[in-house]
Amino acid sequence: MRSIVWFRHNLRLSDNAPLRLAAEQGAVLPVYVHDPALSLFSDTARRVWRSKSLESLDSSLRSRKNRLFVFQGSTQEILRRMAAHIRAQKIYAYRGLTSEDRALEDILSGSLAEMGVQLCLTGFDTLFPPDRASEGRSSPWKIFTPYYRFCRSAFLPEAPLPPPVRVDPCPDFGGLPGETDFRQGETPFLTGLAPGEVGAMNRLQEFVETALHGYATWRDFPGEDFTSRLSPHLAAGEISVREIFWTVQESKAPEEDRQKFLEELGWREFSSHLLFHHPEMLVEPLRKEFDSFEWLVDEERFAVWSQGRTGIPLVDAGMRELAQTGWMHNRVRMVVGSFLVKNLGISWQDGEKWFADHLIDYDPANNAASWQWVAGCGTDSAPYFRIMNPVLQSQRYDPMARYIRRFLPELSALPDVQVHTLGRCSISKGSALPYRAMDYPEPCVDLTASREAALKRYRRIRSTPLMP
Ligand SMILES: Cc1cc2nc3c(=O)[nH]c(=O)nc-3n(C[C@H](O)[C@H](O)[C@H](O)COP(=O)(O)OP(=O)(O)OC[C@H]3O[C@@H](n4cnc5c(N)ncnc54)[C@H](O)[C@@H]3O)c2cc1C
Repeated sequence: MRSIVWFRHNLRLSDNAPLRLAAEQGAVLPVYVHDPALSLFSDTARRVWRSKSLESLDSSLRSRKNRLFVFQGSTQEILRRMAAHIRAQKIYAYRGLTSEDRALEDILSGSLAEMGVQLCLTGFDTLFPPDRASEGRSSPWKIFTPYYRFCRSAFLPEAPLPPPVRVDPCPDFGGLPGETDFRQGETPFLTGLAPGEVGAMNRLQEFVETALHGYATWRDFPGEDFTSRLSPHLAAGEISVREIFWTVQESKAPEEDRQKFLEELGWREFSSHLLFHHPEMLVEPLRKEFDSFEWLVDEERFAVWSQGRTGIPLVDAGMRELAQTGWMHNRVRMVVGSFLVKNLGISWQDGEKWFADHLIDYDPANNAASWQWVAGCGTDSAPYFRIMNPVLQSQRYDPMARYIRRFLPELSALPDVQVHTLGRCSISKGSALPYRAMDYPEPCVDLTASREAALKRYRRIRSTPLMP
């Protein structure tokens, strides 16, 4: 028997059901296709991460006397061509969540069947099955807490599968046409990070032994290193969410920390559940009353936000962390998101697209669900009147301004109090003192006035009912 394993967002050997099944049955051709038609947004940062991740997968396969075959182009054409070339009987893969992924699976399954090849989809690469979580209910879950409570009692995540000992290569068939070189020389964002399965496993072990102890208390403080930073590894599928779940569940960390962390993984599951049932949520608000919301189009302000030059220190530090590292702390993602959609009045879709292009951990479900949560148009969203004040947020979550100073070195000489309150200053109102001798802009908006304007816009739609 010869099979193709079609690697999608599961660039690993451990806990990889499609690979395991194929390897048990005979020879395997491991294939990854970069198909531009499947991504809605451009992916500059992720491409860098992915190239390293593919290198790592290739070297793991080589240690089993196989290797990875990487192509660029139409997945359907490439998989059909490869299946014919090596006379494969089966193609194994996980199921995808987006409408593009699912449409491809339907077309592929039919067109492979015509060639006598079977497409074997082994379920979703998730903790809880997004399709079965709302079986028997009249509609998918809308609110996180009851969804999570239900899933924890209804589904016990499967124990992770060990990596296959052997991944036998297909017999020599004289080379494959159209392979692409996936190695990238430059890796501008990745200082200190280790893409790939080994890097992911090491990160998990290190986290469980250190920062997990205290996670519940400190996870919201961006100046402290208390979150796992497993998100880029999860987004590329270098580690399975089941592996993380069981390692944390069985660790010696305090119960409160373990449960808080597992709940965050639960939010990831909830986003997948939402995307499975509402694939349009990548571009449309889940609450239909937001279809007519009056977002402002202001390229200049969007540029100031995206370059980290708003004059609001916590917002700028976050946007510069994103530019420099391809990652941003969760609390700061909420603050920069709220500032964009509420204080600047710019649409959540503009923020979503920017994040998709610049995050190394971009995940379509998490990103869209989180932006909709911030904008108030998601199913389980922040109420419209809760507009985050970035000055209060930085005073509370970065009291000694350690995070802000790390990314805004031009503020390093200012005392903590002034770093925080800078966002409230205005040269035009005569509080110019802190700006002298600093290459830092004054606030691009007045926080109080822009908050009032946002409330006014939101009040216009607040009386309309929730989505059915
Ligand atoms: C506007 C906005 C956009 C976001 N875009 C993305 C994105 O593209 N990709 C992404 O993975 N996360 C996204 N998040 C969620 C969250 O910020 C990141 O998952 C988290 O910061 C990753 O860091 P970590 O691995 O150290 O998290 P930890 O705190 O260590 O959490 C562990 C894991 O749980 C999951 N998780 C944690 N918080 C959330 C959350 N709020 N929603 C869903 N899953 C969560 C992630 O998979 C994360 O890796 C976004 C949040 C906001 C507010």
